[in-house]
Amino acid sequence: MTKSKLINFHSHNSDSRIINISLSAYIDYIPTNDQQLLTVGIHPWDSENEQLAEFGHLSTALNDKRVVALGEVGIDPLRGASLERQLFLLETQLKYAVPLGLPVVFHIVRRHDLLLELFSKFRPSAPWAVHGFRGRPEVANQLASAGIYISVGRRFNPESVAIIPDNLLLVETDMDDDNTLPDVIAAVAKARGQSPDHVAKICEANLARFYNL
Ligand SMILES: [Zn+2]
Repeated sequence: MTKSKLINFHSHNSDSRIINISLSAYIDYIPTNDQQLLTVGIHPWDSENEQLAEFGHLSTALNDKRVVALGEVGIDPLRGASLERQLFLLETQLKYAVPLGLPVVFHIVRRHDLLLELFSKFRPSAPWAVHGFRGRPEVANQLASAGIYISVGRRFNPESVAIIPDNLLLVETDMDDDNTLPDVIAAVAKARGQSPDHVAKICEANLARFYNL
């Protein structure tokens, strides 16, 4: 396995070590190799289409040994169903995942305040992470204070990335090619005034701790 695969927190690439797939994709999922791990959930963009009948599948997925986290799940006020419906779907999924002690990967647009409220409400024993974080330093600070991991991809706010504590930083390629990860690491390292080697090392350790590998 290449080193990059051990560091890439969130990817949709079919040959990634850990691949993020939707709940509907999980139902038809055929592994490309028997080492592959999954994160499964209902994305907020799919919140208009997902039916409550899917929750039987969610329970199956979250009890599957290959599934290392619920995700990506979250809130996007700019896309998908109403905020009310998105919150309902999110809370329902958390009610399955949190008692199982599963980590959660979040896609949050703007409403990090709602994430922090849910964090206080659920008091999860396993870690939570916001992926593709592009928010302001104040928001990064609030998430870090709660102990929420912050994953950064190709686009980010350098001032925010500079203040993420070493033990909560993650890097990802998301929808991009997995081979772009070294570029992400180099850009993140520059924003933090650290070496790319250091960033790669802490992100590898953080990923293993997050997914309990
Ligand atoms: Zn994603």
